[in-house]
Amino acid sequence: MAELTEYQGPASMEKITSLAKRRGFVFQSSEIYGGQNGAWDYGPLGIELKNRIAANWWKEMTQLHDEIVGLDAAILMHPRTWEASGHVENFTDPLADCKKCKNRFRTDMIPEENLKKKICPECGGELTDTRKFNLMFKTHIGPTEDNAGLIYLRPETAQGIYVNYKNIIQSSRMKIPFGIAQIGKAFRNEIVTKNFIFRTCEFEQMEMQYFVKPGTDVDWFNEWKKRRWAYYEKLGVKMDHLRWHQHGPGELAHYAKDAYDIEYLFPMGWRELEGIHNRTNYDLTRHTEYSGKDLQYIDQDNNNDRYIPFIIETSAGLTRTLLMLICDAYDEEKVALEKNTGETEGSADDWRTVLRFHPAVAPITAAILPLMKKDGLAELAQDIRNELKEDFTTDYDQAGAIGRRYRRQDEAGTPFCVTVDYQSKDDGTVTLRYRDSMEQVRLPRAALAEKIRQEIKGYKRN
Ligand code: ATP
Repeated sequence: MAELTEYQGPASMEKITSLAKRRGFVFQSSEIYGGQNGAWDYGPLGIELKNRIAANWWKEMTQLHDEIVGLDAAILMHPRTWEASGHVENFTDPLADCKKCKNRFRTDMIPEENLKKKICPECGGELTDTRKFNLMFKTHIGPTEDNAGLIYLRPETAQGIYVNYKNIIQSSRMKIPFGIAQIGKAFRNEIVTKNFIFRTCEFEQMEMQYFVKPGTDVDWFNEWKKRRWAYYEKLGVKMDHLRWHQHGPGELAHYAKDAYDIEYLFPMGWRELEGIHNRTNYDLTRHTEYSGKDLQYIDQDNNNDRYIPFIIETSAGLTRTLLMLICDAYDEEKVALEKNTGETEGSADDWRTVLRFHPAVAPITAAILPLMKKDGLAELAQDIRNELKEDFTTDYDQAGAIGRRYRRQDEAGTPFCVTVDYQSKDDGTVTLRYRDSMEQVRLPRAALAEKIRQEIKGYKRN
């Protein structure tokens, strides 16, 4: 397959940002005060989508692996953690300012020519020297604001896992190889935060740290690369929009022996979605040094051999995955007239915007729509909704023409609409309408929940 060189779909960041706001996926943080840079709020559809992505990842990484357990560590950690991890010293971006237009740039992100000549890529003004800027947010804990109370907001969730690794071995009797998974907030003082929620100062990560015997790390690294690729395939993501990027010597983080990013072709180009890293025994060795605690693994099945495990990390952004899935799902199409909608040729409704989410992550699974409000159809539809909501997230909409209501659900990415009409009153059947194909099938109300479950399980994107 020839690699795509640039994005070719109908989405643009402007369209995605505007749809996200209009439909209540994502709002600007503190919008009434003019917004807060690098921070975003997730609205009713956004939080459903985010929760479902997290649940899907959690299931994939814990429930389906007997040897992976979960953890939820605190955001505030002992500050020595970040000295040991190398973040105090090394977690920096190289920055330069333009003396003329006052813009600030990450010098690893501007063309080399500009950097060499110290010329601003925006206005041609003179750039200052490059200096290191630490990305960790600092605050104070306790009653005084002096250095004794200095504390950091964690810039990655991984360290919470490393400092608990012995607790988990002891409490859960884990044997190497085993993994620890965690989903949680991370904070970075990012200077360039454009492209909507792609790069933010407050975001969420989904990380899994896999502890292996030294010498088996390369095999496990390759294995996790395969598994994480397969994960996106299972989610129905456009696979020609994904590619690998191996970190070259200059890009490798201070702790890494090898690192690959899974990149996605966003409307603004190829960008990192997830990193798979061979972190070696760097972190646990450093924590041993800084804490004075023995963090060796004792291999009871092998003459009590002792060693510091190597760690293979899979690190994905939850909020970045959400953005990726909206971009990936976004489609616009001219549609044929739909059955039973009363639409006429040339009406505004013959174009639709549709989000083709996998039904397992779609914010609303089923919308229940009575054809009319009157003649008891609304009550019947409400009753069906009450039944379905035990198992699925549902929506109910009785406002306006049915064709319009389908379009609203298409735009929210709802995979199934259940339409209740006069025949439903007579024979207890309803219509199930599919978002992607717009096909409609009639089935008994009693068979609805099972049918939806089957459709979610067997979903294949065209
Ligand atoms: P970059 O080089 O783009 O700043 P990184 O290589 O430092 O990112 P990692 O530290 O490997 O990123 O973080 C793992 C994952 O966390 C990334 O693949 C991304 O999905 C997510 N992530 C990192 N930084 C941010 C951010 N500022 N906003 C949103 N998601 C982020």
